[in-house]
Amino acid sequence: MSGTILIKDATVVTANSRNEIIKGGSVLIENGEIVDVGKRIQANAEFVIDGKDRVVFPGLVNTHVHLAQGILRGLVPDNVALIEWLKDYVWPLQGSMTEEIMDISTKLTLLEMINTGTSSFVATSINARYNVDRTVENVYKSGMRAAIGKQVMDTPGYADKPQILHQGLVEDAETSFKIYEQMYGKWHGRDNRIWMWFSPRTPGAVSDELFRRIADTVREHGSGVTMHLAEVRDDIRYFAGRGKSPGKFLKDLGMVGRNYVYVHGVWLNYDDMEIFAKSGTSVSHNPSSNSKLGSGIAPVTKMIKNGVNVTIGTDGAPSNDDYDLIREMKLALLLQKVNDLNPQAISVLDMIKIATINGAWSMGIENFTGSIEKGKRADIAVFNMRAPHLVPPVAPVSNLIYSGTGMDCTDLIVDGRFLKRDGKVVTVDENEVYEKSGKLAAELLSRANLKEWM
Ligand SMILES: [Zn+2]
Repeated sequence: MSGTILIKDATVVTANSRNEIIKGGSVLIENGEIVDVGKRIQANAEFVIDGKDRVVFPGLVNTHVHLAQGILRGLVPDNVALIEWLKDYVWPLQGSMTEEIMDISTKLTLLEMINTGTSSFVATSINARYNVDRTVENVYKSGMRAAIGKQVMDTPGYADKPQILHQGLVEDAETSFKIYEQMYGKWHGRDNRIWMWFSPRTPGAVSDELFRRIADTVREHGSGVTMHLAEVRDDIRYFAGRGKSPGKFLKDLGMVGRNYVYVHGVWLNYDDMEIFAKSGTSVSHNPSSNSKLGSGIAPVTKMIKNGVNVTIGTDGAPSNDDYDLIREMKLALLLQKVNDLNPQAISVLDMIKIATINGAWSMGIENFTGSIEKGKRADIAVFNMRAPHLVPPVAPVSNLIYSGTGMDCTDLIVDGRFLKRDGKVVTVDENEVYEKSGKLAAELLSRANLKEWM
């Protein structure tokens, strides 16, 4: 389905440079391109969406997604801190995954993202054991856009803890690079929807030499990097041991710039923010994950004030537990207001940009997506406001962000193609996910020698 589409008389959130919201606005799409945006557009379209009681958003951009963790939802207790959470649960589970389990985990995660209005995402930590080619193929078939980070590492450590990683997740640098190169050759740039990136495991699992090799390859290939950074206070010990802050450490290795998306950044300092702002390095803010693991509140308002491109991500199911960016936006707003003891700290208008155009910019795709503007590709999420939690329709965009969920999404269009139509996801088989996920999650628990925790 990629004919002419007209969305009529809706509240249109453009996320353009003036951050305009057009009430009674329409959007006309031809051959996957937005050809007109504004009031009173008349056209004979193959598909017409009546925009009465609808808010139309640019497709949301999730800059931190673990595809391997969709199937980990509910498998990890909700009262453990990051290192124990990783070492005793998440790593044994991911290190025991089979290709079949990864296949359904990927489909489950894609299904939820499409269902809740996300059009583009950054995938992190794709391990060799997951069958990387099959994983990328699943993403491609879903119709979404994604920068997919191949895990790279040469030491089984985390921060200042050597030899901590689960054996099932250990890779050597040559294997990591070989798979990246193969996937880069096969998929990078495909249909302007798939890009192969690097996902260095974490500082402490990657040598300086390997970081430099990654940075050189990124420059040569025009690809990108995503990595967890300064997530918990203890992480800073590793950098202190190297005599540097996280930003300075990365800058000295050439690991900053456009298409570098560092995740969490809860414990970044002002020098780090300046380095990231000057180099065009982005930060992915993951408020649910940081809250559930007790990691802290990222200094989002300070990063924005200092010129850092801040984006938003859900992280994975064991730390969120959902992949729903509408819910994530609300928590991001509330946490900054409470952290700064200031209701003016951040607004719904700021959050619109963070969840759309800033995310697209961090992926290097802002010239053709991330906003609803003439000439851009049609990546659009439509939300139904005719629901008890979303009326009265006076400030519908605020209502959606503060009172809505991604489940209010009725239609998702990516590149002019419906991935969700009239409330139903059409590019991922939801019945397969429902039929297989419970059985495979139980199998994964037993493979990892773990039990149900409640
Ligand atoms: Zn993560």
